[in-house]
Amino acid sequence: MIYRCVNCGGNVIYEPKEGKMKCLSCGGDECQEMIPAQLPDTCVNCGMQIPFSQFASAGRCPACGTYLIRDNMVSYPYGPDIIIPFKISKRDAEDLLKKEFGKKLFLPGSFLSEKTLESMRGVYVPFWMYDYNSDIEYSAVGTKVRHWTSGDRRYTETSYFNVYRRLHVNYDGIPVDASIAMDDTIMDLMEPYAYEQIQNHDNKFLSGFDSETYNMSPEQLQPRAVQKVNKSNREWIAHHTSGYTTLTQERFNTNNQPTGNKFALLPVWVYEYRYNGENYKFYVNGQTGKCVGKAPLSLGKAVGLTALLFGSMLVSLNGLALLLGVL
Ligand SMILES: [Zn+2]
Ligand SMILES: [Zn+2]
Repeated sequence: MIYRCVNCGGNVIYEPKEGKMKCLSCGGDECQEMIPAQLPDTCVNCGMQIPFSQFASAGRCPACGTYLIRDNMVSYPYGPDIIIPFKISKRDAEDLLKKEFGKKLFLPGSFLSEKTLESMRGVYVPFWMYDYNSDIEYSAVGTKVRHWTSGDRRYTETSYFNVYRRLHVNYDGIPVDASIAMDDTIMDLMEPYAYEQIQNHDNKFLSGFDSETYNMSPEQLQPRAVQKVNKSNREWIAHHTSGYTTLTQERFNTNNQPTGNKFALLPVWVYEYRYNGENYKFYVNGQTGKCVGKAPLSLGKAVGLTALLFGSMLVSLNGLALLLGVL
C-alpha cells in the first residue's frame, strides 16, 4: 500500500518533527488516502516488482522512490500492536551525529559529508514486549560489623541476622529485539526509550521509513525475556537488602509467570559508512536522539598527529636535559 495525496497524487509520508503526514510533492498536511497494492510486492505507483527481503514490512521503490508498505506484512499475524513513531527527523539525526563524532581528531574527511549522510535510513526495529508477574522469595544470613577502639584495645562486633524477603513484581513490557539483522547489543545501547509514549500501531507511521516484522516468534525469544526478568529480580532484592556488611545467600526462589506479550516497533536511524574496506555503523535513537557507534580512524591524520607528539616529546626531553645540566 502507499499513502497518496488527494490533492496532487504525490507520496505522503510521516513527518517526525511535526508528528503529521506530509505530502512530499505539494507539502500538504494530512491529505492522504491509502491505496492498497493490487499485486503483492509491486510498487503501487510504477508497477515495479520490489525485491523485498524476507521480513521487510516497509521500504522504498528502487525505481520511482515511492515509500511502500507491504500489505501482507502489516496485517494479521504479522502486524504490530504498538509503536513508538519517529520523533527525530533525518536532519536532526545528522546534526546529532555531527555533534557526537564531528570533533573526533582522526575522522576521515568524507565521514559525515552531505553526500554520505544521504544514505542514512530510518528503520523500525521489531520487538516483543513481555509482561510478567514475578514472585521472589529470598533468605540469607546477613552480618553487620562494627569496629571501635577503647584505650589500647580495638574491638570488632559482628551481628548476625536472618534476612527474609518476599517480593511480588509486575513487569509491564520488557523489550526483546526480534530482528536477526539488528545486533542485540546495539539495541541494548539504544535504550532507554520513553515507553510511556508508546501508542497503538497505525500503518501511516511506516510511510517514509524501512520496517521489519518480527523474525522470531514470542515463544522463541521468551528465554531472553526471562533472563531480563531474573536480572531485574536480583536488582530488586539487592535494593531491599542494602545495609548489610555481608550476605551469605541461602535461598533465592523465583516464580515468573508470563501474562502477555505485544509486538512493537521502535525507531532507529542507521548510518553506514564505508572506509578503507571496512563498514562502520552508527545509530541514532529515533525517539530520544541518543547516538551509538565507533568512528573510524583516518590513518593519514593519525600519522600527522603522532609526528606532532613526537616533535613535542623531543622538545621536552631537551628541556629535561637542560634541567639536568643545571643540576
Ligand atoms: Zn500533494
Ligand atoms: Zn515505483
